[in-house]
Amino acid sequence: MDLFEYQGKQYFARYDIPVPTGDTATTVDQAVALADKIGYPVVIKAQVQVGGRGKAGGIKLASNAEEARFHATNILGMDIKGHIVRLVWIESASDIEEEYYVSFTLDRSKKQFLGMLSAEGGVEIETVAETNPDAIAFLDINPVDGLTAEAARAWVERANLNPIAVDQTVALVQKLYNAFNAGDADLVEVNPLILSKDGRVYALDAKVSLDDSAAARHPEWEAFRSVSVEAGDEREILAREKGLQYIGLSGSVGIIANGAGLAMSTLDTVQQVGGSAANFLDIGGGANAEVVTNALTVINTDENVKAILINIFGGITRGDEVARGIVQAVQNVNLRAPLIIRIDGTNAVEGRAILKQHESDRVINEETMLSAARRAVAIAEGK
Ligand code: GDP
Ligand code: MN
Repeated sequence: MDLFEYQGKQYFARYDIPVPTGDTATTVDQAVALADKIGYPVVIKAQVQVGGRGKAGGIKLASNAEEARFHATNILGMDIKGHIVRLVWIESASDIEEEYYVSFTLDRSKKQFLGMLSAEGGVEIETVAETNPDAIAFLDINPVDGLTAEAARAWVERANLNPIAVDQTVALVQKLYNAFNAGDADLVEVNPLILSKDGRVYALDAKVSLDDSAAARHPEWEAFRSVSVEAGDEREILAREKGLQYIGLSGSVGIIANGAGLAMSTLDTVQQVGGSAANFLDIGGGANAEVVTNALTVINTDENVKAILINIFGGITRGDEVARGIVQAVQNVNLRAPLIIRIDGTNAVEGRAILKQHESDRVINEETMLSAARRAVAIAEGK
């Protein structure tokens, strides 16, 4: 799960990483009242999960209420690379002396963590890596050893920061590592980490991606989630509420499959036979009537859907159970489009037999993934 900047700052604050204090606003009046309360000058920052907000005009300094109103009016509702700004974060403006970069992430090839620290922050790290790779101090971290105080200091010293910033940065990177490792994040990135004119080092921006596989350990993440999806696709919000792995797309064939790999293959097959998928939806293992009903309910909200392709390969999931689920679901949900069903694997024969009893022009059995995809696309295209 990717966090918005303001959530990232809240997250950092829990790990004692210094961040500017601020708050969020969703309307212009709220933004101005908040800016008044914080005291000028303030920075108004668009909250969208995409980089380069500054360049796009989504980050503005306001010296008084009039400017705050002007910028908040412009930024709220702004389209930044396809993301509409619904929320702004407002904080007290910083007097910047220098801008740095620091991040921790997983280096999959080395099976270790990777730290990156640079005195050249505020620009994209990819650009620094291309134009001046020596300006980045890399650090391999063995997850078993963690980041020791000594290693942190040696690393910071390699990065050639302003000497005034060194001690504070050594302390900060250790806290940031803790936020990354103990916090169960896949990525923490601070760009820029700043040295202010009055000699303080703190995180001016925050990019945090949490490891969804660790969500069970972090009930406190729910607060992040409810907001993150609020701004998203309506179908995805409903799917999230129902605990489904769903991604909305723009085609006409609704897809339900068990397992992410099979779901992807199903999308490819639909594409290959000349159709287009309306979604990705993985109902996972052990799909029962409730899960199938939930899946069909979500797909049913999609007005573009003209055919629904259900592709199940039984492993732990049994074909007969899925078939019973489909039959029940069809009775529960008033479907907008016909179902084309392919069941294979464990208890496929029993599953097909159950579907056979309920076969109609709305419930269609196909034996292979390819024939099912062809049938679904033909129906979706009105052929
Ligand atoms: P991004 O463009 O989405 O990465 O947003 P950032 O939060 O990194 O802000 C981009 C740039 O805006 C920073 O690198 C700073 O140069 C500038 N900026 C952000 N906040 C302040 C501030 O409080 N004061 C000043 N002077 N500049 C700021
Ligand atoms: Mn940034």
